[in-house]
Order: sequence, then C-alpha cells, then structure tokens
Amino acid sequence: MAEAGSFADRVKQQADIVRVIGEYVQLKKAGQNYRGLCPFHSEKSPSFNVHPVRQIYHCFGCGVGGDVFKFVMEMEKCPFPEAIRVVAEKCGIAVPAPRERSPEERRENQQRTLLIEMHRVAQSFFTKNLGNTSEGKVARAYLEDRGLTKDVIEQFGIGYAPSGGDILLRQLKTKYPDKLLVESGLISREQSGARLFDRFRRRITFPIANESGKIVAFGCRALGDDMPKYLNSPETPIYSKSNLLYHLDRAKDALRRSDFAILVEGYMDAIAVARAGVSNVVASCGTALAEPQIKLLSRFTRRVIVNYDPDTAGQTATERSITLLLEHDFEVRVLALPGKADPDKFIREQGKDAYIKLLKESPPYVDYLIARARRMDLTTGEGKRNAVNFLLPYVQKIPNRLLRSEWATRIAQQLRLDEPVLRSELAKAAAERRSEVKVKPELIGRSAKPVERRIIRMLAEAESFRLELAYQINEAKLHVGLETEKILTALIAPVLGGEPVQSTEIGAKLDDRDRRVFFEILFEDSNELTWEEAESCIEALKHRRAEHELAEVQRGIEANPTGPELRALLERKQDLMKRLAASR
Ligand SMILES: [Zn+2]
Repeated sequence: MAEAGSFADRVKQQADIVRVIGEYVQLKKAGQNYRGLCPFHSEKSPSFNVHPVRQIYHCFGCGVGGDVFKFVMEMEKCPFPEAIRVVAEKCGIAVPAPRERSPEERRENQQRTLLIEMHRVAQSFFTKNLGNTSEGKVARAYLEDRGLTKDVIEQFGIGYAPSGGDILLRQLKTKYPDKLLVESGLISREQSGARLFDRFRRRITFPIANESGKIVAFGCRALGDDMPKYLNSPETPIYSKSNLLYHLDRAKDALRRSDFAILVEGYMDAIAVARAGVSNVVASCGTALAEPQIKLLSRFTRRVIVNYDPDTAGQTATERSITLLLEHDFEVRVLALPGKADPDKFIREQGKDAYIKLLKESPPYVDYLIARARRMDLTTGEGKRNAVNFLLPYVQKIPNRLLRSEWATRIAQQLRLDEPVLRSELAKAAAERRSEVKVKPELIGRSAKPVERRIIRMLAEAESFRLELAYQINEAKLHVGLETEKILTALIAPVLGGEPVQSTEIGAKLDDRDRRVFFEILFEDSNELTWEEAESCIEALKHRRAEHELAEVQRGIEANPTGPELRALLERKQDLMKRLAASR
C-alpha cells in the first residue's frame, strides 16, 4: 500500500506502531513484542500482539492484523489517506497539502470546515453575551448562585444565548448560505414557512467539543421555566451524540494516568466533578450510554465508575450502561449518591471532599444491583422470582467462575431465598456464562506444519542465507502443493529478486487466512535461525515430496497399467524408495 518514497512510506518509516496503537490499546511488553486486549473482539486475556521490529500487529483470537495504517483505518473507520494523515499527526510528521480529492470529498470537507467555523463564531457570540448584556448578567448571576465562578465559566466556555430570536442568525447570515445555517443546528427553520430563527434562545450555553477539542455542538439549559429544560444541538455532519463523550478532550491525560473514568450524565455534572479536582470525568450527554461511546472510552481505560442520577431514568440508564460496559469487558463500579442527589447537586451541598470519599468507596456493580433488588417486593414468591430474574443476566456476565458462584451465594443470602428453585436458578447462572464470546473454529488460521513455519520464518528474517534457501526451494519446486504454497511463493519472489521482504506487503498479497498464518508465524517465539536448520528443513520437504510421489506411483501400479507403463512405474518406485531410505 505504501509505495516506496511516497509520503505514506515516509510516515510508515518514521511512525512507531507501538506508540500509535498504544493510544488505542493498553499494551504491555511481552518478550520482544507488546500485548494487549484486542480492540476488535471481546476477550479476557490478551491475544492482540504488536511487533515493534516488523511494525505489524496481529490478533491470535480473531485473526485481524496489518500495519499501522490498517490499524488506524479499522479503528477510526476511515479511508487510507485519512489514516496516513492521522498517523502522521500522531507522530508529529508534517502533512503536505492534500492531494486533489474527489469533488464530493472536497465539498464534504469544506462543509465540515464551515460548520466548525460557524460554531466558533457562535461560541464567541454566546460568551460575549454572558458578560455584556443585561440579560446575560442575569444568567451570570444564576451561574454564580450555582457556584460557578468567573474562572470556571471561562474555563468551560459557558455562554448565554439571548432571547431576541434572530441575533445570532443576523451575524451568521452575512457569511453563510441559509441551507448551511440550518444544517449547523444553530439555526432552525419555521415548520410552516421559510423564516429562520436562532435555535437557542434565553439559554445558558455549554460548548460541546469533540475528542480533538473542536466545538461541534452546544448543550443549552433554560434560564427560567422554559421548556424543555435542556435543549441540545441536533445531529449534524460534525456532531453525533452517540459518538462523543463530553469533556473527553480535557480528560484524556487524566484517564490514561489514573486508568479509570467517572461516567456522569450531563455537562453540569461533568463540570462539577472536574472542578472537584477529579478531571478523569466524562459525560454521556443523554441518559443512555451508546456503544460507540464505550468503544471511544475503551481506548483510554476499561475501568469505570458510573455516577448517574439516582432518579428512575438514571437508574434504568445505569443498568443499561452496566450491561453494555460488561459486554465490552469493563470493570464497573457504581456510585449512587445519597439523598437522590446528582453529582452537581451533591458537590454543591456536601463539598468535594465528601464526594471524593464516596467515589473511593464506590461498590462493585453487583453490590449496587443487589441493593436495587432488595428494594423490590420480596414478601411473595413471585416478587422474589422477579428480583432473581433482574439479577440473573448480570451474574452471568461476571467473567470469573468462582466470583460468579460467590455472588450467587451472596444474592441468595441477601434476598433471603430459601426456595430451592430460585437457588438452583442462581447456581445454574453461576456455572455457565452464556455471554462468553467463543471464537469460531473456522476463524482460527490453518495450522501450517512446523517445517513450513520455520522455512517461512527464515525466508522472512534470515538475511544471511535466505537467498540460497529460496533458490533451492524454487529449483526443486518444493513449495508446490504445500498448504503454505501461496505464502512461500509470495516470499520467494522478492528474496530471489534481492528486494527487501516487507511483511505487510507480503500480507497484502495473500488472502485473509494465509495472511493470518503468515503473521502468526512472525509472532512466534523463535530460537536462532541457522543454515543447518534450513538444510534439514529442505531435506524434510524433499522427503515429504518423495512420499507423496511414492503414494501416487503406487496408485498408478494398482490401476493395472500396460506393460511398458508398469515397468516405468516400478522403476520409479524403486528409485523413490531408495531415496526415502537414504534420507531417513
Ligand atoms: Zn482480536
């Protein structure tokens, strides 16, 4: 993919795959390689490997693999040119002016740039309004009353959208066409007619930034009793609610450092927690956590404390989030604040120290769920059954068998279950784990024979003698008919041509299963590669070849051939048997 001398090639030469992938996956050194939990399939023990020397990655579980660009393309779901740009930026390599794009790409890009620009204009408009207008001063007083000081207001870019109805519109209209105004989500169109007006009016505005810190949307809270209390930007070409976590752009470093995240519901909560000095907080901005948000978060940590509102909607959201997080192998704890308080309210009333203390004591999610179940009606058999049914799916998601059975016992005790049926339901749930992801056998690469594996490794790495090895294999056509024939062919060509052997380029020439076998071989632990071993591998292949031929000759003899034909076959058989005896 990366042509020699091209920009892509230069980026690839300079990029450190361990560092780039390390931004998405927590990698630990294991021998000469790095290992971590695969971001492409669900797993408990790491089978995702990164090879720092060959600059490739490979997952022994699900079989994905490739170079740094392939990885970024898969993770970011972006095309190749975009992946080059991402890798270059991550590695501090200057990106040249983009090549000519297709008209459509160009139009989309321009549109995104304009939309982001409009949000910048809106942001400066909103922040100016907060301080300078009489309306804005009321908003500021309200914020101060909520404990948001001038510093905090500035730090989080909080602003105010005035009640006028078209003040922002008048500013934007001079520069941007109507269609784009509406697409930005900042301006709305009257349902009946053509009249445009400001979407946000008489509201406190909170800028919502994407992962790289660019403002792409606003969350707005009504100042008075206007309904709805919260009004946010709609989905636009630059903003998708389920793909964004509020405050992630500022929380990144703290998330990596602390290796856990506090997940709250809204931006006010996130701001309150961050102000309490806990900066590894993100908000889902909506009641339910979405799958893309979890994937986004898993690039930074897989440990979460869920701190949603304790109201009914918040409880449901907490439970839905627990399920999703567990499915993605997160370690989950739950903080349910006393007095039905959300984090913002609690910190305002009880102080940050009280919050941090409770945060540290947050129980594992199972404790939280048992407490929930205990509040159900447990006086009847049916009530108890409901409570158990509520808990069963979670028990099944506990990864460790012993832990599962421990929890089953605890649940039985805490819910005072004596009915043998309910007990046995729990015990059954503890014994099995239905949600476990099993890799289908056909997904596992064909296991090439050891001799072939060694030869492949030598052709790829033994620079001192691989030319001789390739020559001998090619001369005797020893690779023909082998399971690994295609891999060997792909390797022999560049070796004989005196070209460097690039694992990813070889991989690109192979189908998926062969590529998988090839990468697996490259990741195997290996002792020293010697010519003596190469010779014995060649001998082994010759032997195998002779055995195959012998079997064929034997079949020929048994097929009752004509006289001369039979004589030739018998001679051939003698010859092969002699050869086989000699190589034994
Ligand atoms: Zn995998």
